[in-house]
Amino acid sequence: MSDKDVKTVKSVCYMCQCADTGIVGHVKDGVLVKVEGDPECTPTFGRQCVKGLSAPFVPYNPNRVLKPLKRTNPERGIGIDPKWEEISWEEAYDIIVPKLKECREKNPLGLMLNFFDYPTYHLATPWSIGFGGQLYFGAATWCGWYHNTAYQYHLSFFREADYEHTNYILLWGAQAGHIVDALPVHSAKEMADARARGAKVVVIDPMMTPAAALADEWVPIRPGTDLALGLCFWNLLINEFELYDADFMKSKTNAPYLVGADELYVRDPETNKPLIWDTAAGKARPFNEVATEDTALFGEYEVNGVKARPAFSLLAEHLKQYSPEVISPITTVPVDTIRRVCREFGEAAQVGSTIKIKGVELPHRPAVCLSGRGPTAHRHSMHAVFCLEGINAIIGNLNVPGGTLGFAPYYKKRWGVTEDEDGFALSCNSTYFHFGSLDTYPAREPKKPAWYTLLDLCPVATFSDNFYPMMLSLPPEERKKFGLDYDIDVFISTHSNPAVYISPHEMTEAIKNVKFFLYFATEMNESAELADVVLPNSHWTERYDPIANPPFKFEAVGDHEWYWFFRRPMIDPPPGVQHWCDTMIELADRAGFLPDVNQLYNILNELNGSPQELELDKRYSYVEMSDAVLQNRYGVSVDWYEKNETQVFTEPKDIEEAFPGPFVPGRCHVYFEYWKRVKPEVEKVVKELGIEDVWDTDDYTPLLTWTPCPAFEPKNGFDLFAINYKVACHTFSHSYTNPLELEIGHTYPWIYRTPIHASTAAKYGIKDGDEIWIESEFGYRVKGTAHLTEGIHPECVGTSGFGGRLTRGAKTGRKVSPNWNTLVGQRLDLMDKMNSSLDGCVRVKIYKA
Ligand code: SF4
Repeated sequence: MSDKDVKTVKSVCYMCQCADTGIVGHVKDGVLVKVEGDPECTPTFGRQCVKGLSAPFVPYNPNRVLKPLKRTNPERGIGIDPKWEEISWEEAYDIIVPKLKECREKNPLGLMLNFFDYPTYHLATPWSIGFGGQLYFGAATWCGWYHNTAYQYHLSFFREADYEHTNYILLWGAQAGHIVDALPVHSAKEMADARARGAKVVVIDPMMTPAAALADEWVPIRPGTDLALGLCFWNLLINEFELYDADFMKSKTNAPYLVGADELYVRDPETNKPLIWDTAAGKARPFNEVATEDTALFGEYEVNGVKARPAFSLLAEHLKQYSPEVISPITTVPVDTIRRVCREFGEAAQVGSTIKIKGVELPHRPAVCLSGRGPTAHRHSMHAVFCLEGINAIIGNLNVPGGTLGFAPYYKKRWGVTEDEDGFALSCNSTYFHFGSLDTYPAREPKKPAWYTLLDLCPVATFSDNFYPMMLSLPPEERKKFGLDYDIDVFISTHSNPAVYISPHEMTEAIKNVKFFLYFATEMNESAELADVVLPNSHWTERYDPIANPPFKFEAVGDHEWYWFFRRPMIDPPPGVQHWCDTMIELADRAGFLPDVNQLYNILNELNGSPQELELDKRYSYVEMSDAVLQNRYGVSVDWYEKNETQVFTEPKDIEEAFPGPFVPGRCHVYFEYWKRVKPEVEKVVKELGIEDVWDTDDYTPLLTWTPCPAFEPKNGFDLFAINYKVACHTFSHSYTNPLELEIGHTYPWIYRTPIHASTAAKYGIKDGDEIWIESEFGYRVKGTAHLTEGIHPECVGTSGFGGRLTRGAKTGRKVSPNWNTLVGQRLDLMDKMNSSLDGCVRVKIYKA
């Protein structure tokens, strides 16, 4: 067949959540036969990753859901046949709409929408809030918890390194720049270019991940001890090497704020502003009245009749306990290595240096520390993430060349940053609006929880979604103790596989507590098999997503143009199958709450009073609704993309937008006085609820502190840790049903086999290729094939990604590798009460199968 039989269509890849890659689809006789990076798409350099190349396999998955399905088997569970009955769309609506009406009448909070579909947040959020229901972010369980710091340190939900101007990249349990993080294709190219011009990469991780294997140095660390090592880095940078950015500390953080014996700020009696010590005036003055050069970071002063010290002075003293000699036995990282890597990092930051970009002189801090999920998915996650990401604050690299940059914190200077009365930066709503995510400062008022996510009990968290499965799993009388005196009557889920988030066995039991479960599926998976009704959903290759990369999400940081992606269908969806958002609009219309959805859409998308404001009683399609936001927010439209036959709209970015650090107002925290201040309020609510026995508030301290996780000490023969790590060919559970990705996964033994250190294997009499059981302290076990290596910490056994599918439908992905989530315990005592992070430290034992 000649080329003229092949039609090409420009679109945007969505084989992973990043959705950041401009592609060209090749379509022959209506069949997608190939996709490739679009050479004309400048933000992604015409490239695509291996997952993206495998896109044509997905729409033709034999396991595809093509018709509405109704469960006829009342028994639900893993591996149990739902005995599906195909039904018409009308029959499906006749089942679903009365459930929605009844729930809304009785208690709208009884509806939970769970989704992880970035391009649809602008609609799905107003849909759920318009109903009166609640939202559950679809994949927060093992997400990188740095989002909690990103608002404070980067004024954005995401952050990335400025690879173009950096010389030293410390990947702390992270693989940024290696196709597994935000902005994968763009960052991989930038990382490669940085390496080619001599940038050094050091990876701290229990596993020699693909990023570690390519790095200049891999530093193995005992799982769950990253906070201890991070605090040691703070100590060395501040106390021993004095490689911190003193000017940045004075002018852009609360380091100089004077603190009294009660650990709270000493404030000016007239203005109530926090005071700092003015060395020139020899007295304390409001923070906004003292020049940087006259600001004290150390000392003790008499102020308003009380003794006060700059927060930085307290911090420096507190950190002295974290010396390399103390921390080395905790982390297993040798003392010399700790000192050497930390000094290298601090010196690479070139504190005090500047760089001229496009004629503008800016601070230059060419060293970055990027943390990932591993070090921060722990019982004391909030301290860990502020510590690891805070290393960037210590060297003053926030939002400046060579450092760490937020995504779109300062777009057109319209999404501005403001400063509150205490002098702290507040990021603009547009940079974080989605699924109810919130800024982490200032603390919100704690109160009796309304949602299953218990967000009202987590006043300084950006989200607390891990509490949702926990609460759902509790019997009603236990749940009531948390203020939740209602059931989930309707659970709607899509682009998410909640049944296997944590312990699949425990999650399956939890989902059984839902009264009615509606799932939108492109293909059958573990969650769909638990649903009462499954509705077919168009695959991304078949759908429009006019806002393919929302503003809080991914776009190239630094000195690159702004760009906004537009996804168009490359092929038609199967007959009768449509975008799940159009089905949601239909449901809202039939159930009588569409005007409320439109109203919330106008409010949350800031359309009120604009020419694009939706009429409340009018029904719009998903594309029309998205077009309104496109036009209002970016000044571009669906028509523009279609007329220009492109998938990307670009705008120039000026230097202030590229490197907003020196230009935006406000400070960030290195001393967490507001945690301390909100602690009694949390305690009051906890006491009123009577949950003091299960809800501790010990982590609400102003100084970051190392506390071991429950799994720190081995117990009852469970003397190893099970860890998991990401690989470029797999993302989320769905990738394990893609034949090309599965085939690539077999290229490396550590992808589907179970890495175990050769010395550890010898101790257990295990040889390379042996079948082994990995059994966790929580009573679950999975089978793997031992892969003996030196590339893993000797106290660990590893599994990659999200293998070991359990669904009856995913025949290709079943048992391909052990399912790590099966080993994890879903317990409140393993969770961080500040942000809901679940402890990823899992103690296991291994034995031959
Ligand atoms: S990184 Fe994600 S969006 Fe980009 S090509 Fe790969 S799978 Fe597609």
